[in-house]
Amino acid sequence: MQSPVTEIKLVAIGDVDRELIEYLSLTLPGTFGARCVLSATELNPRAAYNETRRQYHSTQLLQQLHDMAGSGCGKLLGVTDVDLFIPIFTFVFGEAQVGGSCALMSAHRLHQTFYGLPDDRALLFERVEKEATHELGHAFGLAHCPDFNCVMRFSNSVEEVDLKASDFCRLCEPKLRQMPDATLAARC
Ligand SMILES: [Zn+2]
Ligand SMILES: [Zn+2]
Repeated sequence: MQSPVTEIKLVAIGDVDRELIEYLSLTLPGTFGARCVLSATELNPRAAYNETRRQYHSTQLLQQLHDMAGSGCGKLLGVTDVDLFIPIFTFVFGEAQVGGSCALMSAHRLHQTFYGLPDDRALLFERVEKEATHELGHAFGLAHCPDFNCVMRFSNSVEEVDLKASDFCRLCEPKLRQMPDATLAARC
């Protein structure tokens, strides 16, 4: 697939499993037709921590990513293991600027251990790839899609993450080639 975006930069936010980031750097290029690089600069999530909720404010982290993005046509994907929230939701798996330059995803609730189950690395990697693709899909201009055969389907729980496909449906994939002008926030 060809797209006008040539580079996706992965930014570690806080203490993140390096194998997850390296895995994404290998899988995302084929999905988006863009090269993937690891950012030398990491982001400290401390300023986005909310002591009452014991979670990190997703929109603040997205703004921090935006501040380090600068100009250019590349995309920035922040990858974290901290638990994310926005005020109206209990949690979010991630957040992105639709048609913008930045996206953010958390692996926190993608671990089986979060649900009191035995660790499952293969399942974790599969989920992380889906959520990274979903959030980057927003940054590439895609909205939510009702199709379970599409990674752009909204997921409200990890079960719904597991149910949806890991790539784009036939309607969404062609839209990846287009970049809309509007930049909206997508919390998902
Ligand atoms: Zn779709
Ligand atoms: Zn979404």
